Amino acid sequence: MHLDASGIMPGRGETGRREGGSSIHTDRLVARLEGKLDAAAILRGDAVSEGYAGDASFRGTRPLLVLRPRDTADVSTILSAANDLGQPLVVQGGRTGLCGGAAPQAGEVSLSLERLSGIESFDPKSQTLIAGAGTPLQTVQQAASDAGLFFGVDIGSRGSATVGGNIATNAGGIRVLRYGMFRAQVMGLEAVLADGTVLTSLKGLPKDNSGYDLGPLFIGTEGTLGVVTRACLKLHAKPRIERVAFLALPSLAAAQDLLERLRVELFGILSAFEVIFPGVYEGSVAYSGLRPPVATGAGMYAMVEIQGQAPDEDNERFEAALGRALEDGLADDVVLSNSLREFNALWAIRDGLNDYLFSLGDMPGFDISVPLSRMQEFISGAEADLAALDPAARTFIFGHMGDGNLHYMVQTKMKDAAYEAVYSRIAAVGGGVSAEHGIGVEKVDWLQYARSPAEIGAMRRLKAAFDPKGILNPGRVFAPSVRSA
Ligand SMILES: Cc1cc2nc3c(=O)[nH]c(=O)nc-3n(C[C@H](O)[C@H](O)[C@H](O)COP(=O)(O)OP(=O)(O)OC[C@H]3O[C@@H](n4cnc5c(N)ncnc54)[C@H](O)[C@@H]3O)c2cc1C
Repeated sequence: MHLDASGIMPGRGETGRREGGSSIHTDRLVARLEGKLDAAAILRGDAVSEGYAGDASFRGTRPLLVLRPRDTADVSTILSAANDLGQPLVVQGGRTGLCGGAAPQAGEVSLSLERLSGIESFDPKSQTLIAGAGTPLQTVQQAASDAGLFFGVDIGSRGSATVGGNIATNAGGIRVLRYGMFRAQVMGLEAVLADGTVLTSLKGLPKDNSGYDLGPLFIGTEGTLGVVTRACLKLHAKPRIERVAFLALPSLAAAQDLLERLRVELFGILSAFEVIFPGVYEGSVAYSGLRPPVATGAGMYAMVEIQGQAPDEDNERFEAALGRALEDGLADDVVLSNSLREFNALWAIRDGLNDYLFSLGDMPGFDISVPLSRMQEFISGAEADLAALDPAARTFIFGHMGDGNLHYMVQTKMKDAAYEAVYSRIAAVGGGVSAEHGIGVEKVDWLQYARSPAEIGAMRRLKAAFDPKGILNPGRVFAPSVRSA
């Protein structure tokens, strides 16, 4: 057996470690880079802190070498040298990823974009800004707000997650229903290919059919085709009114009917529709000690948010739509935010769900995409399969229902079998094995449950074309190709 061009490089898996925390491979790379990068760009030995060893879900190996470029030219210098030497790299942003993509594997050098941080420019006419890849999402949100505008993506990890990581994972979050995923915010980007070639497309033109649009190749491809260094991001009108309602509903079916109805009745102002299943809501309010906004005991819970530009009219539409939902039995109870404090307090309940779930210990967790029309079929089928495997199995579900995206956790002793059961049901209903977190290293074996051999084959061909030596994030998204000698 041997590995092909898109596969593992010579030396991968074999660290070549020596006394003093270095290796023959990293020594050669450092020798190539010294004098070209500043002193702060190269961390070795004890200077490499534990944080570089993993992401939010997965601890990898503490890297022997962390490279921290200052700018795009440094990234190009590093990639060109690593490519010549066949040195595999793991690209790191804020390391908040939830599938191990940024966690170093044995033999990899970390390439951290943390110093490419900051808003470079802002264009009020086109309502765009250009940010470095290492800029935290929250900095982008704040810059937009300071300019009287709004950034469309929000996720719980906003303080640490970076623009580059958001692009590489095509991050989603709570307002995809209104503004689309991160992809929809990207008007252009700059990326460096494995051999150091810099592709800059930051004109921010809404229309530009001048040949291939290469930027999208780097969105959602988890750093396997190139390293994102800068991005031109679209901003939106800042809402003049934002309100959120917390609802108790009789069932999942009622939540789906309500969503269908609100998409029409609140057209143009509906900005989020989240569901929280009873086990998660009830466990979470008990865990946090917060006063539940609506009484426990309902069949389902939901959060509905509006953002609009006409406060009086939007308020009226929102309250009337919620009133009709109560009258028609689609909702049993509604609590509506009347101030910014109440708005933030209701959203804090949603943001706090993970604290409760993490407190339950290590559980198989899924970030799945389910066609709305088959969501109940999926849930019933998966519950039955899990109960057959382990009668004590418990599921915990919440998610971005407006996008058909469920976060689904299973408390069970039969962990491996639980993965197989849930992903098989996902395949059966035509869903996705990752709605927003990506494949990373954790879901590589499950990609085939959502993508055909032809699709995975085409991904491999792209990988081989952009990174023929396989130095960029090897083993993420799909396993390196192996063929018989
Ligand atoms: C509390 C919490 C809440 C979260 N909520 C959400 C949510 O609602 N929606 C959601 O989508 N995600 C969510 N996430 C997951 C995570 O925050 C996102 O995946 C985020 O986009 C990762 O950004 P990062 O900068 O931390 O990337 P990292 O974790 O550092 O990296 C993620 C992947 O991107 C690659 N990468 C990083 N930077 C670059 C770059 N410049 N160029 C090329 N590749 C790069 C890495 O190699 C890795 O494969 C959450 C995580 C936490 C901890």
